[in-house]
Parts: sequence; structure tokens; C-alpha cells
Amino acid sequence: MQVLGPIAPALRVTRFAPSPTGHLHLGHAASALCVDAWGRALGCACLLRIEDHDRGRSRAAFEAAIVDELAWLGIAYDAFKRQSDEPERYAQALERLAAAGHIYGCDCPRARLRMGPQELLYDGHCRARGLDWRRADVGVRFRVDEGAVAFVDGVLGPQTQAPSAQCGDILLRDRHGNYTYQFAVVVDDLAQGIGLVVRGEDLLASTGRQILLGRALGRAAPPVFAHHPLLVDGDGRKLGKRFFSESLSERRARGDTPEAVIGEALWRLGLRAVDAPAALAEATALLTPGFPRHG
Ligand code: GLU
Ligand code: ZN
Repeated sequence: MQVLGPIAPALRVTRFAPSPTGHLHLGHAASALCVDAWGRALGCACLLRIEDHDRGRSRAAFEAAIVDELAWLGIAYDAFKRQSDEPERYAQALERLAAAGHIYGCDCPRARLRMGPQELLYDGHCRARGLDWRRADVGVRFRVDEGAVAFVDGVLGPQTQAPSAQCGDILLRDRHGNYTYQFAVVVDDLAQGIGLVVRGEDLLASTGRQILLGRALGRAAPPVFAHHPLLVDGDGRKLGKRFFSESLSERRARGDTPEAVIGEALWRLGLRAVDAPAALAEATALLTPGFPRHG
């Protein structure tokens, strides 16, 4: 790790934030190991935050499995939070954004989005339509001004993103009343005093827009972000969806040990030359110096 920390004492909290829409797989195990090791190295308490903002896809059974799977791996946390336990927090945050003129109502179907240079891009169709964002059948978008957002990633170094060109105005609540990941994660990171965000590189592109949202919600400074590399196969290529279809529970059922899983995660993160069992303490020792900056 090149630039992580120091983190202000009041913000020495990090989080592992799985969605209970499925089981944990090896990618989650790798993330949890990074959160645990880097959080500890920087003196942070660790929160397990169940991100069940998508009410249609979240299941209590998956949440229970996630808790089990983490316990089996031997990864401990200091507190447990569930997004659906505090729904008023998101409504209040919307009011705050509305008072400052940051949001508007949008009833566009997903099909309206067009592929931009990197991802689906919203064209601002509803910006000036004056739809009532409080209506239950209307979604809510956050106005994104043009311009760059710069931050220093703890693993990848200096980053610059332009959310207006990446995704356009950010959906905060969809037309069915679900708060979105991008919104809920920022509201929670602020409310819970999260000073360190550790997650996979697949979420790197979200960071600029999350910094903008946090700023609009009154966050004085963004958290420290550290995006760990994604898991690779034996030839150094990123693993596809199929690889991640096997859950930790299934691996456990076919006789894998937590050490086998931890060892494989370390190997696939590029931290060990061989795929061999490793204890949690070994993961901590290997991860604590951080990844060499790359990319
Ligand atoms: N809930 C997100 C996921 O499972 C992770 C959120 C985050 O770490 O920012 O992919
Ligand atoms: Zn719209």
C-alpha cells in the first residue's frame, strides 16, 4: 500500500459489504481478507454491512449463509448492520439533496440508457421535465455536473474520473422504490463514519460518482479507497462469471478447508506463487504491506 492513511481517529472504521442476493464465493473471500488485513493495519474497526437495498432480490437465507461462511473462514467483525433496518436514513438523505437542488424525478425505463464510452449512460432526458420525485412510481436522479473527480487510490495510485461522461445523472431510487447501490453505499459510509473503503477493482469506476454524492450530502472529505486486484487464473487472466458460481458453502460441503480457500484466494490475488493452504494469520502477514502499485 502506497498512500493509505493516516485515517482520522473518528473515521477508523471499515466495512465488508456483501449483498444478500447470493452466497459468498472466492472473490468475496479475497475481499474480506483485504478488508480485514488493511482495516486492522490502519487501526479500523470492521463492520459487516448487509447491503439489502434491493428488496426484490435480497433473501434472509443468503444473509444467514453469509454470516456462516464468514465464520467458517474465521474472519471476525466488530459490528453488524443491515441496510433495511434503517430505511428512514435514505429518505432523509433524499430530502437533504432535494433541498440543495441536487435531484429530480425520472420515469425513464432502463431501455432508454445508451451505451457510453465505458458503460450505460443516461442522457438527462428528465432533467427539466419537473416530475415530482416524491411520487412512488417515479425514480430519483442526482444531477452530475461536468468535470473530473480526482482521488488517490491506496493500491492503484492517482485516479481521475468524469462521472458525467461515464454514467451521467446517477439513479438514487428506481421507479419501483428501491434505493440503488450507489446511493445507499454513500449514505451508509457517511452515517457509519467509514474512513476506509476496501473492495475489488470491479467497483473502481463507481468511486468518482460516490465521492460526488458524498460531497453533496455534506461529507467533508471522502474515505480512503483501496481497490484490490481481481482474481486471476493460472495464466494471469481475469476469471469469468462461471468460476464464481461455486459458493463457499459448496466448497465446504465438498470437503475444502478454510485454509484451502484462503490459500487459493492469496494465490489468485497474485500474492503467493502456489495454490496451497494458508492460515488466516498468513493472509494478514502477506496483505499487510499492501499490494505494489500497478495499473
Ligand atoms: N455490496 C457491494 C457488492 O456486494 C459492495 C459494496 C462496496 O464495497 O462498495 O458488490
Ligand atoms: Zn428520465
